[in-house]
Amino acid sequence: MIDHAKHAEAARHAVVAASHVCRSVQDALDEVRAVTKDDKSPVTVADYASQAVVGYALRERLGDVVLVAEEASNFLRDEDNGLLLDAVVAAAREVWDDATPESVLEAIDIGAGDTRHRRFWTLDPIDGTKGFLRNQQYAIALGFIEEGVPTIGVMGCPNLPVDQSEPLDERDAHGCLYLAIKGEGIYETRCDNEKAELIRLTRLDHDETDEIVVCGSVEAAHSNQSDTDRILAWIEGQGLGRVGEPARLDSQCKYAVVARGQADAYLRLPTRKGYVERIWDHAAGACIAGESGAFVTDIHGNALEFDQGRGLEKNRGIVCAPPRVHGLMIRAIEALGIASEAGSAG
Ligand code: AMP
Ligand code: MG
Repeated sequence: MIDHAKHAEAARHAVVAASHVCRSVQDALDEVRAVTKDDKSPVTVADYASQAVVGYALRERLGDVVLVAEEASNFLRDEDNGLLLDAVVAAAREVWDDATPESVLEAIDIGAGDTRHRRFWTLDPIDGTKGFLRNQQYAIALGFIEEGVPTIGVMGCPNLPVDQSEPLDERDAHGCLYLAIKGEGIYETRCDNEKAELIRLTRLDHDETDEIVVCGSVEAAHSNQSDTDRILAWIEGQGLGRVGEPARLDSQCKYAVVARGQADAYLRLPTRKGYVERIWDHAAGACIAGESGAFVTDIHGNALEFDQGRGLEKNRGIVCAPPRVHGLMIRAIEALGIASEAGSAG
């Protein structure tokens, strides 16, 4: 039997440590050099250091773990990138005193786990790297998947204020952390203190919402913003609800913003045929939002299937919202033919 509380505690420990590392790197953001991976997405010193620290911390607490994480060590192993490796080791030492180049590379490789296991962790060491580089929102997102379903989600949001009246696009002094265990609810706390009290959030009851606020990506390439506008116009045109100005923020923080009742939906609409969402971009967030009472599906209304390898091969896009608003979004998507335009996965 899996001790979910012990696993969640270990995950929190790992995410708090990684959040500290990311913050330290960001404090020296002028020096952060984003290198470009083969797929043209940016990756920084902090992505690698965060992954190393999480792998190391999970193994220290839980022994041999299966971890499927976004980054790989091969780039850092290239002799030409020795300076980058040194910077990664220096960043990891913020929380891991005796880190060395060898131990850091090995810890990054813990994340090369195989998705064919019945149970495994999945990590995005910095989700929303572009937000991180802009000094806006990003997340350290760690999910535990059992038989294709995320059962633990822990997400550190180092720049997200707990106070919902604070702006979403500025850096917060403490940041927040969300922790959920499937069937046991969702908790909120700060992400800069592992011992801070966990506050249980009440389940969402949005049926009274009079203005629907949707959140989505900052990056236009990551979610189709004109389709979002069409959906909102349709809902208003049909007299089904009033809509507010959409909120844009990077990373899986969007799931947390819905889970804590600050936004009424997170829409991620395909921008091109053939893009397959990555499991580490959704496992932690989907567990957290699900435990808040939101429905988390793809644009067809189908459950997300986390047992299809590193991608959500059977799904297209994401619709996350409390039940009534979720129903409205799916109706709008069907009425506008957005799901068929986006085609099926694969
Ligand atoms: P966001 O913070 O919403 O902009 O999402 C960030 C994530 O978008 C990254 O972690 C990438 O894995 C993912 N991504 C990259 N390209 C695309 C794309 N074409 N469509 C959807 N998501 C993407
Ligand atoms: Mg990501």
